[in-house]
Amino acid sequence: MELIKVVTCGSVDDGKSTLIGRIVFETNNILTDQSIKLKKLSSRYGSTGNEIDFSLLLDGLQDEREQGITIDVAHRYINFKNNRLVFHDSPGHNQYTRNVVTAASGCDIAILLIDVKKGVLEQTKRHLKILKFLDFKYIIFAINKIDLIKFNKKKFLKIEKNLKFLISNEKKIKISFIPISALNGDNVIAKSKNIKWYNGKSILDTIISFKLKNNKKTKSYFTVQHVHRTNKTTRHYLGNLKGQLIENQKVKILPSNNVTNIKNIFSNLKKVKKIKDNPIAIDLQGQLDVTKGDVIIDCKNDKILVGNVFNAEVVITSKDNLIAGRQYLLRLHNKVIKTTVTKIKGVYDFILNSNINKNELKLNDIGEIEITCNDLVPYANFVDYPALSRFILVDEVTLSVVAAGKINFALRRSGNLFKTEGKVSKKIRSNIKRHKPKCIWFTGLSGSGKSTIAQQLEKELVSKSLHTYNLDGDNLRLGINKDLGFTSTDRTENIRRVAEISKLMVDAGLIVIVSTISPFRKDRDFAKSLFDKDEFYEVYISTPLTICMKRDPKKLYKKVKSIKNFNPIGLTSGYEQPLKPHLKIDTSRETVNTSVRKIFKSIFN
Ligand code: ADP
Repeated sequence: MELIKVVTCGSVDDGKSTLIGRIVFETNNILTDQSIKLKKLSSRYGSTGNEIDFSLLLDGLQDEREQGITIDVAHRYINFKNNRLVFHDSPGHNQYTRNVVTAASGCDIAILLIDVKKGVLEQTKRHLKILKFLDFKYIIFAINKIDLIKFNKKKFLKIEKNLKFLISNEKKIKISFIPISALNGDNVIAKSKNIKWYNGKSILDTIISFKLKNNKKTKSYFTVQHVHRTNKTTRHYLGNLKGQLIENQKVKILPSNNVTNIKNIFSNLKKVKKIKDNPIAIDLQGQLDVTKGDVIIDCKNDKILVGNVFNAEVVITSKDNLIAGRQYLLRLHNKVIKTTVTKIKGVYDFILNSNINKNELKLNDIGEIEITCNDLVPYANFVDYPALSRFILVDEVTLSVVAAGKINFALRRSGNLFKTEGKVSKKIRSNIKRHKPKCIWFTGLSGSGKSTIAQQLEKELVSKSLHTYNLDGDNLRLGINKDLGFTSTDRTENIRRVAEISKLMVDAGLIVIVSTISPFRKDRDFAKSLFDKDEFYEVYISTPLTICMKRDPKKLYKKVKSIKNFNPIGLTSGYEQPLKPHLKIDTSRETVNTSVRKIFKSIFN
């Protein structure tokens, strides 16, 4: 029996949990002990007087119950007229949009509830945008609480008209509008006798009437989740198989494009000749370099590709904005890779608005972006293999999910750009110089003493015949960064460029000294991520703000004071102190020479 997956969404109190609760109860899919518990809970927490409060079947967590809202995703299975259905109930609050994405992804049909008395709300539009983003082909608009307006047809038709307008561009989505009362059961399981003017089916009959397209025969693919080395020569690859694999079958490994044969297949610790849709372990002929996140495919499969620059659609799921120029961790199937958001192409307001010049996307925005991964990634288009197209972008520091997305297509133009290694390496270059290249990154408030120490340090390094370069943030703003201002986005881009330039200089074998306020932790972490171990040293010049303001060598603080309500980030507010700097130097307590000596001792000894 094929499982039909349904998600319910809508605003708080639109009746999602009550609807599923009633469905579960009336289709006799509730166990006796649950039924007794439900009656008890209804009298304690319920909002329906002496009647059963069906929503309590879904609102699983105690805290939520007491607040009367659903935060997490709850799901319930039912059997109905020889069909097996699962309902995912998503939370209605605005701040839990990410849970709606989680609940809805992977479902076939969506029920979007609308309270007939409230009509189409911002939240309705937001959820509809998410459903479109997730490519839903079947949406049921359940206009709920119709009993409260005495089954009034006019109000229903007005809401139907509004919704039809919102979805008018979507010809491929099959839609139904159903007047219901989740509380009383009208048009939920069976057709209601109270709503004579409605000619359509009940919710459940509508769901089973949709002829869900059966998955096309998927061409096989296997995503490597774990590499298990049993001894020096044998490696087992563990992961999830979609489709079928046969012993000795010729397969291709992506992204390397190496071709080999399957030697052994194991399922449940037993060797098998042939297997379908299962978690399995395999080993391959020959010694090949296969790592977590690689995809093993049938050689004839031409739908799974390899790329590193993509156009993608994302929905922002965190309070932290997604910022162009910033690096994130991208997780796509089992692959986790550093990825930079290179461009924000536009924001969807039912259609893509690409005219606004945006550098950031904020919570709940759905937008189109371009990303560049640090390495090649196996992927597929959403229509062919959704699981190989869906990804999340994760903040490298907090590890929170900033966005969920899907790849639209690979951008070939730069997708063909790959790093070429010359005949002379960083090691050879540094050997000539007889020192190890390094990046010493000074961060701290303006006037803390970064440039002063950097200049003295460079002088002493040069006197010892070491080859250095002093990259001063302010000097770079006069040249390569002269197009950048002081907004958060511009500051991030400023640091990205300084970091990339330092990387090139270290690659050339130099000792690079960077002095720039670099107020944001994430940006400094990005800089660090570009370097090898023992190449990057973060030195925090921790001089207190009061001292910096008194010194004010660039007269910046004076300027700020003269402008009312002006608190530039990184100058008087918003500086994020390093959590684990290599060194911390307070120049109000020591001389320049003492600081330079300390740096020498800890970095050059
Ligand atoms: P930043 O580069 O951090 O903006 P600068 O180096 O340009 O700061 O300015 C620091 C100011 O503080 C200079 O005028 C410098 O002479 C003065 N100063 C006083 N004591 C120290 C010290 N111990 N270390 C560094 N600078 C100091």
